[in-house]
Amino acid sequence: MEYDVVIGLEVHAELKTNTKCFCACVNSAGQEPNTNCCPVCVGLPGALPVLNKKAVEQTIRAGLALGFNINRTAVFERKNYFYPDLAKAYQISQLVKPICVRGYLQVGNKKLPINRIHLEEDAGKLVHSNDGSTLVDYNRGGVPLIELVTEALEEPHIESADEAIAFLEKLRQVYIYAGVADCIIEKGQMRADVNVSLKPKGSKTYGTKVEMKNIMGFKSVHRAIEYEIARQKDILDDGGVIEQETRKWDDDKGMSFTLRTKENSEDYRYFPDPDLLAVNISEAEIENIRKTMPPLPDQLKAKYMGEFGLSEYDADVLLQFKNVSDFFNECVAEYNQPKTVCNWITTEIMARIKTETGAGPILISKQNLVWLMKNVDNKKINRLNAKDVLSAVWGTEKSAEQEAKARNLIIDIDTNALDEIVNKVVLNNAGVVAQFKAEQDPKILNFLVGQVMKETRGKANAGDVMAKIKELTK
Ligand SMILES: [Zn+2]
Repeated sequence: MEYDVVIGLEVHAELKTNTKCFCACVNSAGQEPNTNCCPVCVGLPGALPVLNKKAVEQTIRAGLALGFNINRTAVFERKNYFYPDLAKAYQISQLVKPICVRGYLQVGNKKLPINRIHLEEDAGKLVHSNDGSTLVDYNRGGVPLIELVTEALEEPHIESADEAIAFLEKLRQVYIYAGVADCIIEKGQMRADVNVSLKPKGSKTYGTKVEMKNIMGFKSVHRAIEYEIARQKDILDDGGVIEQETRKWDDDKGMSFTLRTKENSEDYRYFPDPDLLAVNISEAEIENIRKTMPPLPDQLKAKYMGEFGLSEYDADVLLQFKNVSDFFNECVAEYNQPKTVCNWITTEIMARIKTETGAGPILISKQNLVWLMKNVDNKKINRLNAKDVLSAVWGTEKSAEQEAKARNLIIDIDTNALDEIVNKVVLNNAGVVAQFKAEQDPKILNFLVGQVMKETRGKANAGDVMAKIKELTK
């Protein structure tokens, strides 16, 4: 039978704030286990949480970046469950009145609806040792986390593993550009739960959904979804029934296993946290955050393609990493030749910073790159020499201009001197010149240009030299 696939996502992202969500512990990873926690974030009896205003602002910012409505009153609730990484046996979260309701994310030509974004605290982390024991590190407990839940029961929805990944990548980009989260996947700063259901093609009735929790990395999300679609197809084709359940994805084995069945929000016994007041959010606060929103990927893309005339491909390459598009913007502000700047950045710069998992730092100043681009365009330095200078100043404090001068690469040869050299080369290579006259082979021309460049030690402009040789060999 043919089926429609319906995919829902719940995406957790750790917010960028100085301190944790309800206490004064710093919000940063990498400390010795259990050294960055206090009575509040481990939930000792009598400790009282105090809401971090910045965490609320960041949640609103995330919501505004995704076209959400912001609730004027938001409420924190206790989500009760027992697990060793949650010492106080409940998580402060939001259920009935989250901060953000009804947003969307534009992915390709689909405007995918999003149900909500709520603010909650992260749990600690279990660390499994080689000897089979399990340790717990509470440092991460209390880190502010936003959970975004897609609207799977409305059109359009996510229909394939590829679309789910496109959604996650775009969402990650929006969060990073808005400045709300770093979303470093390897550090677990962005994690996704996925639910999948199948229904007969064209049917209006949704099937039973199966959830998969906390899958690390987008590649694993893709594999887990494909596996789940195939698993459900098999069951339905055999006339079976899909059980509502939560499954655990095992990336090494490439399959998933039942974790628990039939879990509903009632099971968590949510109730408003009596230690925290409702949060009132004013129109003025929302407007303030809206006004300070940095440019988002879709806006920048429209500018790059419209105002700057770049291709969609180039715009996407520049926007893939925020440090790259920031650098591009800075260089264009300095040297208003977007296409030239784009070419240098997407080739020379990208080749030096692209890693397997992202982009490393750009180790050249905008002044240096702009100087090189300008002087190549003004024919004061050859492109190849400019690239050598770029390599020489990369990762150093050196100035490109001084480096080019020290290497004697500035083109300052006067016309008479150049004519003399060209004449000499043409005379000394009479045989080659004759061959060129006969065959008009560009390779031969390039050879002659090369000879002249060698004589001038690269200080002539290759285009000028080529024109002169053509003139002499007519
Ligand atoms: Zn704390």
